[in-house]
Amino acid sequence: MKLIVTIDTEEDNWGSYSRTDNPCTNIEQLLRLQELFDTYDVKPAYLITYPVVNDARSQVILKQFLRDERCELGTHCHPWNTPPFEEELNAENTMLTNLQDDLILKKITTLHAAISETFGVTPIAFRSGRFAFNSEVAKALAALDYKIDTSITPYEDQQAYLGPDFSDRTPESYSFSEDDIFLPRSDGKLVEIPLSTGYLQNNFYIANRLFKFFHQKPISRLRIIGILNKLGIVNRACLCPETNTEQEMIGIAKVFMKKDFKIVNMMFHSTSIKAGLSPFTKTVHDEERIFNRIKTLLQFTKDAGIENIRVSEASDVVRSAL
Ligand SMILES: [Zn+2]
Repeated sequence: MKLIVTIDTEEDNWGSYSRTDNPCTNIEQLLRLQELFDTYDVKPAYLITYPVVNDARSQVILKQFLRDERCELGTHCHPWNTPPFEEELNAENTMLTNLQDDLILKKITTLHAAISETFGVTPIAFRSGRFAFNSEVAKALAALDYKIDTSITPYEDQQAYLGPDFSDRTPESYSFSEDDIFLPRSDGKLVEIPLSTGYLQNNFYIANRLFKFFHQKPISRLRIIGILNKLGIVNRACLCPETNTEQEMIGIAKVFMKKDFKIVNMMFHSTSIKAGLSPFTKTVHDEERIFNRIKTLLQFTKDAGIENIRVSEASDVVRSAL
């Protein structure tokens, strides 16, 4: 099993959708994060937004990392701050999937070109802002010669946020054609590497059926899911240090190993490594907790012989497994 690390590397203002007011002070924290990655020989992919591309200090930091070959860059499109702005600024339009087809392509093209021109690299990996991925987004990626999408959140229904329903999607990677993003095809041009979300129970299908069944009960669904979790009947976990403890991440990594997954994907947001900027990191204490979780997982993967690979190497790993 191999590990990639993909980070939504974005402006500070989590949850407030501004076109122009987008400070990027959290990017300074990448200096500390990258040092931790260096210790474990991890070359992460920073998937960057348009404000980050255009922020002078962020440019200095990321260019230095690139020059020393310590990371790769990919694309993370927040449509509300990526030109052109032909749409109304509202909640629905924060999802790329809700925009006109031609506008999806225009925005991703703008960001892609800005990254290429500013950093002198051609990004090949993409994650959609708010995980808004569909066939039209995939068509834009194919047109721009992307190789990898990593927007799918297995077992998560994003419809409550006006996004796609991924509640029946699984965490296995696959190649696909842009016409049908959920259909694995060995001759597909793109590769999907979903977030590494699964269940500590070996049978993901049954665990997900149970989770969905109880989640649909309107009144006390969180309580029921909490009880199932405590009883060890249904435990969802993800390689994400924002919402998962060290033990949960190691637990799910072990399940993926047992299932002989070829590749897993740790993800988080750059805003979560600086206190006060994301809902997961309110205090300095939370900040330390996130760093500790990342470090503990990387120590586990190292001890378990899980190889860290660059995102640019991941497409071949997925294809060779087919
Ligand atoms: Zn984002």
